Amino acid sequence: MVFAYDTEVALASAAALVNTAFLDPDPLADDPGLTLFLEQERFSGSRTHTAAERQAVQRLRTDLLQLWDSSEETLAQGINRLLASSQALPQLVRHDGWGWHLHCTPPDADLADRMATEAAMALADVVRAGELERLRICAAPDCSGVLIDLSRNRSRRYCGTGNCGNRENVRAYRRRLASNLLENQQPYGLP
Ligand SMILES: [Zn+2]
Ligand SMILES: [Zn+2]
Repeated sequence: MVFAYDTEVALASAAALVNTAFLDPDPLADDPGLTLFLEQERFSGSRTHTAAERQAVQRLRTDLLQLWDSSEETLAQGINRLLASSQALPQLVRHDGWGWHLHCTPPDADLADRMATEAAMALADVVRAGELERLRICAAPDCSGVLIDLSRNRSRRYCGTGNCGNRENVRAYRRRLASNLLENQQPYGLP
């Protein structure tokens, strides 16, 4: 494990949030979509189910996307901004089968603030560990998705959306196949 378990979960969750921006239809386009996303990410706590709540989460998504690909200095400032604007107050809590971990906002705080502090605290761990290199943009040429590489040998290159890794493997296979066919055309080309 590269980071603490709850940090890794929060980083994966932040990446998943950012990547909803690249899905069609956008899962955050309506309230049931947001609810489903939160269930998938096991994100509990109070909700207002208003358009304002959803728009705040969409704004957070944009903020996180910008931070994902930024310099250490910009990321650090962005984390501080997220923590300040959501009035973070770290508290150790235990709930829903999770072991002791930090919450920085009370459970009745705005959803976007709770999501922001969770992502910000996890990203703070990344900065503190000097592991910014693990925050990546997907290597597939037709994808702008993000990923957090939590592999021991830092080998992850593709995001989790739309099977980018598989698609790239298929492309590479086709390229190899095509070049083999070209090479083999000489001896077998003419009878
Ligand atoms: Zn929690
Ligand atoms: Zn991708």
